[in-house]
Amino acid sequence: MKTLNIRPHHLLCLHVASDDIRDYYSRRFMENMKRISEIIRENPETMIKLVRQADDICMACPNNDNGVCVMKPWMDEFVKRLDEKVLHIAGLKSGQVLMAKEAFASVDSKINADKIPEVCSGCIWLEKGCAEDYRSGVIS
Ligand code: SF4
Repeated sequence: MKTLNIRPHHLLCLHVASDDIRDYYSRRFMENMKRISEIIRENPETMIKLVRQADDICMACPNNDNGVCVMKPWMDEFVKRLDEKVLHIAGLKSGQVLMAKEAFASVDSKINADKIPEVCSGCIWLEKGCAEDYRSGVIS
């Protein structure tokens, strides 16, 4: 099975990937996010590689301009910093290859729903109720 490339902050976003999540960027993005979350849910031993760049989720995103996140002028730097932050807090490393369940266990042991507003401070998804969706996350 293919190793998924996942940027670290998407380990948080994947917790809230479900059919009813609000205002996805596009249908193609939504279907791809759902596909990836289903792959992981069906096989938590799916191998993932942690990357600090556009990943398999960004690949279907309309904000991905040749690997640069252009959702906002400051967004590419912001998501890179967020990736660094998640790696640091979870004790993971860029380039690390591990099972999805191991990656989620590392993140979940350090970041719970109460910490999402602090860890993800500045992210537009917080305003959309992301932390509450995280609390009832679909991947754990
Ligand atoms: S908004 Fe940016 S970081 Fe998020 S999926 Fe799209 S391209 Fe990737």
